[in-house]
Amino acid sequence: MRLPALHWQIVIALALAAGAGFWFGDVAGFITFCDFVGKFFLNGLKLLVVPLVLSAMIAGIGAITQTKALGRYGLVTLGFYVGTGFIAILTGLLMVNLLQPGIIGGKPAGPLLGLDSDVGDVMSTVQGKGAGDLLDVLLRLVPENLFAAAAAGDMLGLVLFGFLFGYFVSRLPSGLHKTQREFWQGLYEIMISIANVIMRLAPLGVFGLVAPIIAKTGWSAFKPLAWFCVAVLGALTIHVTVTLPLVLRFVARVSPIKHFRTMGPAMLTAFSTSSSAASLPVTIDRLEKHGGVPQRITGFVLPIGANVNTDGTALYECAAAMFIAQAYGLPLDLPTQFIIVLAALLTSVGVAGIPSASLVAIALILGSIGLPLEGVGLVLAVDRILDMCRTAVNVFGDSCATVVVARLNGEGGVHGEPALGSSVK
Ligand code: ASP
Repeated sequence: MRLPALHWQIVIALALAAGAGFWFGDVAGFITFCDFVGKFFLNGLKLLVVPLVLSAMIAGIGAITQTKALGRYGLVTLGFYVGTGFIAILTGLLMVNLLQPGIIGGKPAGPLLGLDSDVGDVMSTVQGKGAGDLLDVLLRLVPENLFAAAAAGDMLGLVLFGFLFGYFVSRLPSGLHKTQREFWQGLYEIMISIANVIMRLAPLGVFGLVAPIIAKTGWSAFKPLAWFCVAVLGALTIHVTVTLPLVLRFVARVSPIKHFRTMGPAMLTAFSTSSSAASLPVTIDRLEKHGGVPQRITGFVLPIGANVNTDGTALYECAAAMFIAQAYGLPLDLPTQFIIVLAALLTSVGVAGIPSASLVAIALILGSIGLPLEGVGLVLAVDRILDMCRTAVNVFGDSCATVVVARLNGEGGVHGEPALGSSVK
């Protein structure tokens, strides 16, 4: 029998979880079973955090900076990725600070979401790992022992290490460089294959995580989650309808409307597959055949962008980490928000263009601010629908990067426009 597509399986699992939660209520055996299934799935995700993020970052950064022949494209591309990613994160941060979805009626929404852990317990684990002050955060970027930091779930140092490692891989002499790149790319692809196996369990995982919440709290869990969705969707909408069109209009000097028309089918593909990597052929086709971008630019910017330039993902990671921290009652002072922004920016580079890849990065960010990685379970029920939306934004962001690079390199014919007078050559 052919099973329905994964997102439908997850929707069905959600509906079954709601029904079973109400039906069985707080029956001990049922809750034990669900806890086991949910934990099994979450453990699978957590298992991948260190090797997946590290290999993805090293392979990804190695690819961006490996631009000796393409140096002039490389710099603009990198600038675009970092700049728009940062703005996207700040937009997400702003929305979550404004709407405070993790705080309902002035209190952390943890209990409404079925969080059993006492805030006091969480605070004691946060101590020493949370953001004491800014200098402390900077010190934690350079842990004295990388493995001890990773094992303790203190991921900040690991992320910076991955970044530096990737950069210096790209500076190695060509023989060594090739060996290193192939090694990390291989490791990354193995991790992705394992991730795919684990994601097949997502419907079961969602059931196991959501049913006990419904059993313990009824519908009250939906209020914070609904607000969280509003915050994320609002921020994604601002990014796609304000920030990126402004870049198209004032940096690339092309019509944002024409660009939207060109990219519609690619965004729909991204929406239905939740995978920027799977949408790549459509994105390339639309930009080359309908947007007039030459193949030498799409061929360079898009394959890297699909894995590295993930504005929607960066925004989501930041919003989700903030929401989970609010739900746990963690005080979100400036240093903590700084860590979240920094970690979202760095890890979004390493998030693969496949469904639900952000979950692993969110677990890593939670570890960086000292929260239990289980916190990821709070957003799982709505992750898939938000994944569809953020992936469409990722693909739109990649397409904008391609147009900007083409225009700044003096290419004519993009959306029928003549070449820009200035060039970054
Ligand atoms: N699904 C996203 C993409 O393919 C990645 C993520 O945010 O999970 O771009």
